[in-house]
Amino acid sequence: MTAIDYDLEFIEYRTGWFRKRYTIELISIALVSDDGRTYYAVNRDMPVRRIRRHKWLMDNVVPHLPKGHGDQRIHMPKRWLFHYADERVKPQTQIAREVAAFIQTTDDPALWANYGAYDHVRLCWLWGLMPDLPPGVPMFTNDIQQEARRLGLRWDELPQQESGEHNALADARHNQTVRRWLAEQEARTS
Ligand SMILES: [Mg+2]
Repeated sequence: MTAIDYDLEFIEYRTGWFRKRYTIELISIALVSDDGRTYYAVNRDMPVRRIRRHKWLMDNVVPHLPKGHGDQRIHMPKRWLFHYADERVKPQTQIAREVAAFIQTTDDPALWANYGAYDHVRLCWLWGLMPDLPPGVPMFTNDIQQEARRLGLRWDELPQQESGEHNALADARHNQTVRRWLAEQEARTS
């Protein structure tokens, strides 16, 4: 079993007639595999105008998005939430292909996330509906919260994230740290 810790930043919102429908759209995604590989991408198709009206996302998520390198950073138009020419910014169709390949090339993959129910649903929506899940992609995500609960640990007893919270890559790396720490706790007590 090879664990893949992942995290998505996303926007959830009401839509449709009378705003009675709900959807989740991808902002960024990161996967960190125990075999040493890492993947990070930002969705260039994210609903920029909607995100701009979402104060929490503007304050907590948008500051971590790629602003380009060197001259790109200096010349980035102020109205852009991220730099479109940054190599980590990709169309969602490309992200879907690359994430599937990342998981499929992992030996016996197990998905892990923190409070991961929304992450799992949005991950699967990269590829369409439930029957469209690519072969080799696990049909569930293990949850760090469930593992902590099983071991009788409270959230504030777990290792705390030092920086980069709500940066998908920093969050995925922290998830890996916490998951490994939980495994050590279990090994120590059993
Ligand atoms: Mg996050």
